[in-house]
Amino acid sequence: MIEIQGNIQGKTALITGSTSGIGLGIARRLAAAGANIALNGFGDKGEIDALVSELQDTGVKVAYYPADMTKPDEITQMIHDAKAHFGTLDILVNNAGIQNVQPVEEFSPAKWDAIMAINLSSAFHTARAVVPIMREQGWGRIINMASVHGLVASPYKSAYVAAKHGIIGLTKTLALEVAQDNITCNALCPGYVKTPLVEGQIADTAKARGISEEAVVKDVLLAAQWTKKFVEVEQVAGLALFLCSDVAENITGTPLVIDGGWSAA
Ligand code: NAD
Repeated sequence: MIEIQGNIQGKTALITGSTSGIGLGIARRLAAAGANIALNGFGDKGEIDALVSELQDTGVKVAYYPADMTKPDEITQMIHDAKAHFGTLDILVNNAGIQNVQPVEEFSPAKWDAIMAINLSSAFHTARAVVPIMREQGWGRIINMASVHGLVASPYKSAYVAAKHGIIGLTKTLALEVAQDNITCNALCPGYVKTPLVEGQIADTAKARGISEEAVVKDVLLAAQWTKKFVEVEQVAGLALFLCSDVAENITGTPLVIDGGWSAA
């Protein structure tokens, strides 16, 4: 019988950038399906402690790792610490990401470097540490958070669009390298999901385009999303869980699009 709903009971998932937004939604969904959770990301200590307790209440093991995704040494250490703590590392979700919205001629070089490090290079550093562990275990799932901006562009997002296109290339390459090891690697490509990252973008886009925040939501964000609805965090999390299921074992090296029809036009 092929398992459709996940079958990840007792497995361990490490999700980068899981103290907020989509990453937190994926952590909650995978914990509800019985996976132990390694949380990562920034935030207030009290709020992070509360998240750890909330997830532990579902009956799974949870640990928090403060590794900064701009720091390769901290990333590698986090993977080793999580493997030592949980005993296995079965699911890796490369989700941490930041955004910066500026015309290219004004685009901050420091922001460019930070976006490349967090949105793209961190997934290389986690993968190179985790693949040998998954190979030894004989099973693994790597899920890279791309975006519809991994497939199409929007103005004023040069670094983000470049990094998201890049992570789809990394996804395809990793998928081929681990294809015969019972490990899959895929990318998720959501359209707009209303998270703190997007809330910040609404203000920045209003400034960059010289229009009101209401106009940004109506005429910029949801203009491209043909359903005229934001994608829900739980919908992205459900897709991540599906990729962990047995029926998904032949889905690898591909961008899975969840964008309300945006990239179809
Ligand atoms: P968010 O701002 O709510 O969460 C980002 C997470 O990344 C937080 O936990 C934050 O602490 C963490 N983070 C940031 N910098 C970090 C660093 N240096 N080291 C470790 N952690 C760090 O954002 P979100 O909207 O949930 O975005 C999550 C991912 O989804 C990102 O990769 C983003 O590009 C992607 N995405 C978002 C949308 C959207 O509309 N929200 C759409 C498509 C793709």
